[in-house]
Amino acid sequence: MKNSNELARKRWDGSLANNYGTPKIDLAKGKGSIVWDVEENRYLDFLGGIATTVVGHAHPTVIAAVNKQIRELSHVSNFYMHEPVLKLAEKLKSFTGEESARTFFCNSGAEANEAALKISRLTGRKRIISTEGAFHGRTIGALSLTGQRAKRAPFIPLLKDVKFAKYGDIADMERLISKKVAMVILEPIQGENGVILPPSDYLKRVRELCDQYGALLCIDAVQTGMGRTGVWFGYEDSGITPDIITLAKGLGGGLPLGAMITVRPQTPRFSPGDHGSTFGGNPISCAAGLAAISIIEKGLLLKRVKKMSTLIKREITKLPGVLQVRGEGLLLGIVLDSCDAALLVENARAVGLLLNAPNKGVIRIAPALTITDAQIKEFIKKFSSALKSAQQEATS
Ligand SMILES: *Cc1c(COP(=O)(O)O)cnc(C)c1O
Repeated sequence: MKNSNELARKRWDGSLANNYGTPKIDLAKGKGSIVWDVEENRYLDFLGGIATTVVGHAHPTVIAAVNKQIRELSHVSNFYMHEPVLKLAEKLKSFTGEESARTFFCNSGAEANEAALKISRLTGRKRIISTEGAFHGRTIGALSLTGQRAKRAPFIPLLKDVKFAKYGDIADMERLISKKVAMVILEPIQGENGVILPPSDYLKRVRELCDQYGALLCIDAVQTGMGRTGVWFGYEDSGITPDIITLAKGLGGGLPLGAMITVRPQTPRFSPGDHGSTFGGNPISCAAGLAAISIIEKGLLLKRVKKMSTLIKREITKLPGVLQVRGEGLLLGIVLDSCDAALLVENARAVGLLLNAPNKGVIRIAPALTITDAQIKEFIKKFSSALKSAQQEATS
């Protein structure tokens, strides 16, 4: 039987857990920011594996690095060192700018935040402050930090003593913080919540409060990290130094890899036996991550990200039916006037553009940082045509 999206949906329903719902299309291959499904339909990929494929699909440098690594050494556990893990940890340390930075590698964002939670317990305090609308992952610990009722409700009771401050509201943070607080955890931009930005002095003010009360500040840079906002981790423009940075998504250049970095000299650190991960810092994932970083550095992509962001914002803001384009770099939320975002996602796919709707009124885009000028033009054209048809459908 010939491969088709319809057949794939049946096979999915017959063999996979239903936690994602059934995806519409079955992707067969990709190159840069273009992907093809099994019916050979071509799509411009503006979701990028949810901000994960920072250098696009099948980048020759990543392929070469992964090939070389898998020929030489595939997995050794953390009983042994290897060059890719050393090199990547040194790279991340240099990005933090702090001699005291130390990295623990894991495999996902939830695990990175779990590790941060465990670090917070080393302070001797137990209370955590997260924020309303935050997304920090789906494991029980990470879910306990996630400020979204629908995701939490079926799984209560979760961890005790987690408080949620209004995101971006320094007065509310001030109300909740005390000497009982072990850690405040924040995203520089709330990605899953619809690309929400705090006021520009928020991180700085939260840092001051944390210092005043002796609480750790953890920046969850899982989505904003790896250059997506035009800086390496998404918080640097605020001028703060966090105690902890968590990373995943783009870190492995498309392969699974997460990290939790303890940054400051006074930030508690793990001692032997405190924590671990069998696959954490896997040589192949680290090699892929290093390749992605080298592509971003050699291509001077951080600067380019800011330029492309300005261009997309300018053009998309002009479209009738768009209220606002918010975000930083290539993590942007397109706020729609009345059009249903889910309908727009369907229409975009029909014209060969992959998008994502974190909620009913917002489209999120997170394309590869290697996106070309021509692909941005194509995006603008396809987005406006999909938006037009979605608006027409809604009014007819
Ligand atoms: C995606 C995400 C996570 C969870 O990462 P997983 O790899 O899915 O566990 C955590 N925090 C933020 C900010 C994220 O965007």
